[in-house]
Amino acid sequence: MLRKTVLTEEKREYFKNALSQMLDAVLSDTGKDARSIAYFRGDSGDLTDRASLDIDKNVNFRIRERESRLIQKIKDALIRVENGTFGICEECGSKIPEKRLRVRPIATLCIRCKEEEEGAKGINARRSA
Ligand SMILES: [Zn+2]
Repeated sequence: MLRKTVLTEEKREYFKNALSQMLDAVLSDTGKDARSIAYFRGDSGDLTDRASLDIDKNVNFRIRERESRLIQKIKDALIRVENGTFGICEECGSKIPEKRLRVRPIATLCIRCKEEEEGAKGINARRSA
């Protein structure tokens, strides 16, 4: 049996299930808007009487964009479960605490790297004199 992963078989199953469920939830949510999005992306020939609908579609489109990013993250996480890199910080290569993964299975960074990343984005307003 291959043992390149930091996860036990049991935990692999656990996270695979958690991620699959997450993916299903996002996908079924997204499905509700699928038709209007298809329309929005498609031939927009007669929009004059649909001006107000367009606003909804724009909102839907943005939600959908965010969802598709999430879907991608979940899929990436599933791949990592498969190839055994799940639970390893992308930044420093150390293990991401399981507690964190259970709360957020799509996490790719350990807490320290995550905080550094957020710091770099200016979320932590650090005062340096
Ligand atoms: Zn790290």
